[in-house]
Amino acid sequence: MNSTKGYDFLIVGAGLYGAVFAHEAKKRGKTSLVIDKREHIGGNTFCKKIENINVHAYGAHIFHTNDKKIWDYVNEFVPFNRYTNSPVANYKDSLYNLPFNMNTFYQLWNVKTPAEAKKIIEKQSSQYKSKNPKNLEEQALSLVGEDIYHKLIKGYTEKQWGRKATELPAFIIKRLPLRYTFDNNYFNDTYQGIPIGGYNELTGGLLEGIDVQLGVNYYKDKESLEKLAAKTVFTGKIDEYYKYEFGELEYRGLRFEHEVLDLENYQGNAVVNYTEANIPYTRILEHKHFEFGKQKKTVITKEYPLEASTNLEPYYPINDKKNNTTYLKYKKKSENDTVIFGGRLAEYKYYDMHQVISAALAKAKNILDF
Ligand code: UDP
Repeated sequence: MNSTKGYDFLIVGAGLYGAVFAHEAKKRGKTSLVIDKREHIGGNTFCKKIENINVHAYGAHIFHTNDKKIWDYVNEFVPFNRYTNSPVANYKDSLYNLPFNMNTFYQLWNVKTPAEAKKIIEKQSSQYKSKNPKNLEEQALSLVGEDIYHKLIKGYTEKQWGRKATELPAFIIKRLPLRYTFDNNYFNDTYQGIPIGGYNELTGGLLEGIDVQLGVNYYKDKESLEKLAAKTVFTGKIDEYYKYEFGELEYRGLRFEHEVLDLENYQGNAVVNYTEANIPYTRILEHKHFEFGKQKKTVITKEYPLEASTNLEPYYPINDKKNNTTYLKYKKKSENDTVIFGGRLAEYKYYDMHQVISAALAKAKNILDF
């Protein structure tokens, strides 16, 4: 430990990145003070208990990974259940299975064999095949063809991102599998589940024995807070950290409408997507189904996408060319800084939870094992 400072690390942000870094530091005999401006740990994974149901307060979080090391790591802190994400899409009052698979093709075209489905998709996508799709629309049309694009992708995507699909990066749509089997599993990963008892069990376990201060505004007391530790790990917005000197990075935000309903089962599934453009929310979550809940009441959440601005919570980085170019300027600057930057907001990256954990573990190894 540095002799003039109380802690080895000041970690700004008690989300997954900060919690994993703090835990790894502790394992190596280093001390951390973790601060967060919110009144709870866990960042956007935070679950709020309502009617004895773990409500994903900041939207659906489903843990999935192909990496056995990451799976074993999270299971050290909490056992996971066998939840498999199988969202259903509602388009003009008809239901379709997601991701795009034989069930979806049957519902769309009444086809029963992979050969029939392939024939239709090939016919509808052939004119869009280009070697290098320039945007999400081109990518989607060339992968799944016109019907799926117009019914299940375009409306959802354009309201989710608040931009035309022709202005969005192609990689976003590659998150969704396309398969010619009757398999409604949204992810291709080997391991998947929800922590039994909710995500606070995971982040609480990671932060056990570590000093955490909540409701603390880093910028308000930056100087005195930094004096408390030898080094700072920052997991907030990198553009805000540098006072927007290269301009603002754009984010998509979300507004959540939580409702307690006096009925046992509202929609029969944890996630139902509304893929039409004119329905203002993208999806409705019914939280009890993440954990096979049998409570008498149910809690649902409507997710309304909106533009995040400096005073609204950022959720999704919009990794188009303009923003990525701006981010690179911040990144370059940060490389000469003594502060360590990491996580979805500081790296301006559309990270899933397993990727955040992996990034934090790699950074901790790099910084701590020299
Ligand atoms: N998407 C879509 N229709 C759907 C679900 C997803 O077009 O019914 C597209 C949309 O562009 C979305 C992207 O796929 O932003 C990634 O979806 P995912 O479910 O992975 O997003 P997240 O859960 O991170 O919000």
